[in-house]
Amino acid sequence: MSDANKNSDWTIEKARELYRTNQWSDGYYGINESGNVSVFPTCDVTNQIDLKVLMDELQKRNIQPPVLIRFLDILSDRIKKLVECFEQARKTYDYSGEYCPVYPIKVNQQRLAVEAMIETNGGTNLGLEAGSKAELIAALALASETMLIICNGYKDTDYIKTAMYGSRIGKKPILVVEKISEIKEVIEIASGVEKMPKLGVRVKLSTRSEGRWAETSGEQSKFGLRISEVVRAITLLKEAGKLDALNLLHFHIGSQIPDIQIIKEAMTEIARIYVALRKDGINIEYIDVGGGLGINYAGSNDSSDYCINYSIADYAEDIVYALKTVCKSENLPEPRLITESGRALTAHYSVLVTNAVDFSRPNVDVLPSRINPEFKMLEDMLGINRNLTHNNCRGFYHDIVYIYKQAVEGFRVGIISLEERSEIESLYWESMRKIRVIAEQHGLRHREFDQLNRQLAPTYILNFSLFQSVPDCWAIEQIFPILPIHRLDEEPDTNCVLADLTCDSDGCVVRYLDSGGVDETIPLHSPREGEPYYIGFFLVGAYQEVLGDYHNLFGATNAVHISLDAESTGGYKITHRIKGETIEEILGYFEYKAGHLIESLRHSMESSVDRGAISVEEGVRFMTHFERAFTESPYLND
Ligand SMILES: *Cc1c(COP(=O)(O)O)cnc(C)c1O
Repeated sequence: MSDANKNSDWTIEKARELYRTNQWSDGYYGINESGNVSVFPTCDVTNQIDLKVLMDELQKRNIQPPVLIRFLDILSDRIKKLVECFEQARKTYDYSGEYCPVYPIKVNQQRLAVEAMIETNGGTNLGLEAGSKAELIAALALASETMLIICNGYKDTDYIKTAMYGSRIGKKPILVVEKISEIKEVIEIASGVEKMPKLGVRVKLSTRSEGRWAETSGEQSKFGLRISEVVRAITLLKEAGKLDALNLLHFHIGSQIPDIQIIKEAMTEIARIYVALRKDGINIEYIDVGGGLGINYAGSNDSSDYCINYSIADYAEDIVYALKTVCKSENLPEPRLITESGRALTAHYSVLVTNAVDFSRPNVDVLPSRINPEFKMLEDMLGINRNLTHNNCRGFYHDIVYIYKQAVEGFRVGIISLEERSEIESLYWESMRKIRVIAEQHGLRHREFDQLNRQLAPTYILNFSLFQSVPDCWAIEQIFPILPIHRLDEEPDTNCVLADLTCDSDGCVVRYLDSGGVDETIPLHSPREGEPYYIGFFLVGAYQEVLGDYHNLFGATNAVHISLDAESTGGYKITHRIKGETIEEILGYFEYKAGHLIESLRHSMESSVDRGAISVEEGVRFMTHFERAFTESPYLND
């Protein structure tokens, strides 16, 4: 334990409670006795990787933060768990239809991730889901001949042909019809020379999801056929003599379904549709329940969109049970089951670790020593400041805000000098600090005071771009678990806010998880001279990478792939290193060609030499610097 805490009763257990690692980590992350974050890629304590030691190892190899660390064993473990839960549910209900997990590649398209999942799944038959032509091409090329490829998304002739030709070269695509015009197109194309591919229909259930992704579901949703359109599609297929191609029923009611009731409801609805189509003589072989299996970004007892009230086992049971019941009572064959879980498979497997590059406390303002008696506002505010108590501080808070506003207005119209404005500003913040202390001491909870906590908190500037690495943090104010990956044996001494490197006021984290729920600040440690301070963003494996953008021209970070390896000294191997994008690459995406830019800089350099503003030697040195800059990362280096 560090010196600072010899007298504190801080324990590792308290750190675990504060950052709620037991609640969101699903067994993959924890805090070890050295106060560092440990990774358990197989949820097994005998295989653990110390994340701080790993960061130090990466530093030695000159792999600089920010770095995205991907634990491929976690991906494998997630698939195994999903399959195990469905196998268990099938056993429990004596369900004969087989189960096949299908991975929707839009959630994390990284080839190495998709390949790792396919590899893990040697035993079970993983499938892939594609939602666009680009994803379809990738899926067709990566999938083996036994793997299902579910073709979702809007389709044109090329999309349909790609799937058809794929099936002719031995792959197993199923074209899922999203709108009625697609079925006409498929029939038309296939009625020529092509063989009819297997078809599915995506149904718009009336069951609606809740939370952030509720819009994906219900009868107004963007995708899928209404029941009347399903009936119409069947008629069209019948007329074309192609009804036997239809063998899959699909629905998708949105991501991160928070409540298991929604799943139960959707299942009873799809089961009824299955019965009706079967009775109509249509040979539906598969029920594809789409994505939506959620994870806990916070704790399972929180009622937010980012938490769920069920386990994977509950999910599997409800799906199997619903179909078992109707098939039994209607005496129908039990269809095979497909899930398209993406988030639940990938979220845990990557962690973004970065370093703090600056720590700033808001200025401690000094009270004016001498008051100009003419300056009434300052005198009023000082009077209030001196008389603040827990009984009056809310009312006085409003008074201070009002006086301050008036002073700023006075400055605008020229009756208050710059000096006076500066004095009143200092007094304003000093008073706010005082109010915050009183509020804290007396446990006063008011909206105004919560805001003060954030306004008065010190800021850690982190070496990353929120927009590139955790875009949902900004776009939908999603909560991700965030914590230091070391020094957790020391009590955090200050509530902070985290900001990124972009010149955007939105580039900071506004919601943090803490032991009490969600907060506007995060408890952290003050920086120590000469030591890096590393912060980890967890559960960023789903959606974040591909949604990331180039705000301020910050590009993809360094990434490393880690696999457990009993033979290696640390118990793991760095199997891949993917270099972050260089300034040249990023500029290139926006049509800046390095050659042109360098040439233009060289011209300026030469004319400066001509004018005698710089020497030739200086010019050469500057050009070397410029040229090297193109090959470097846009993130901070020291
Ligand atoms: C996005 C999507 C998925 C994945 O959803 P998750 O909630 O990440 O599991 C599955 N199916 C379809 C059709 C999708 O659009």
